[in-house]
Amino acid sequence: MILEKERALIADYGRKLIAAGLTSGTGGNLSIYDRQAGLVAVSPSGMEYDAIEPADVTVLDPDGSIADGARKPSSEAPMHLLFYKARPDRCAVVHTHSPAVTALSCLRLPLPPVSFLVALSGRDEIPCAPYRDFGGPELAQAAVEAADGCDAVILANHGLVALGKELAAAFQLVQEMEFCADIYLRCLATGREPVLLTAEEMARARKRFGTYGQ
Ligand code: 13P
Ligand code: ZN
Repeated sequence: MILEKERALIADYGRKLIAAGLTSGTGGNLSIYDRQAGLVAVSPSGMEYDAIEPADVTVLDPDGSIADGARKPSSEAPMHLLFYKARPDRCAVVHTHSPAVTALSCLRLPLPPVSFLVALSGRDEIPCAPYRDFGGPELAQAAVEAADGCDAVILANHGLVALGKELAAAFQLVQEMEFCADIYLRCLATGREPVLLTAEEMARARKRFGTYGQ
C-alpha cells in the first residue's frame, strides 16, 4: 500500500480529534502531503472517524485526481490542495468543527492575542475567512486568501483550518487555538473585553517557541 505510514497517521489522528472533542460526527478532515512522492493522503468523505482504517484513506495527486484508494476523498480536499500550493513549506492540514472556534466563527470575529499560544500560528491574530459553501472551490479560495500565510484560519459559521510541517504540529495548533477561542469567549461572556498581548509580547512568545520543548 502506498503512503502506508501517512495513511495510518490520518486514521490515528482522526480518532484523536474525536477523543479530544475537537470535532464531532464526520465533521472535519485531515491530510498529509508527501512532497517527495508528490502525493497527498486525505481522509475519506463522510466516514465516522472510528471506522477509518489506513486503506480507507484516499491518495491524491496534487491536481486532485485519485492515485490510490477506493473511497471518495474529503469534500474539502480542494481546500487542502490549495493550501499546499500556497504554502510550499507545509505538509499537513487539519480542518475541524471544534466548538469554541466554531462559536467564534459564527460571530465572524478573528481570534486576537488573548494568550501567547496564538503565536504558535506564526501570527498575532487568527483571521476569519468569509462564509462560503462547504466543499466548494470558493471556500478553498476564501480560506487561503484570508490565511495569507498564517498557519490557522477561521472559516465563518463553519470551523477552523490549521497547517503544520507535520500532522502532529497541525493537530497541536488545532488544540491550542480551540483553547484560546474558549478563553476568549469566556472573557467576552463577562461583558468585558480581555486585555490583549502587545505586538512586542507576541514577538517574544514566537521567539521562545523557537527553543521551547525537547
Ligand atoms: P468530509 O467528510 O467530506 O471531509 O467533510 C466534512 C467537513 O468538515 C466539510 O466541511
Ligand atoms: Zn467542515
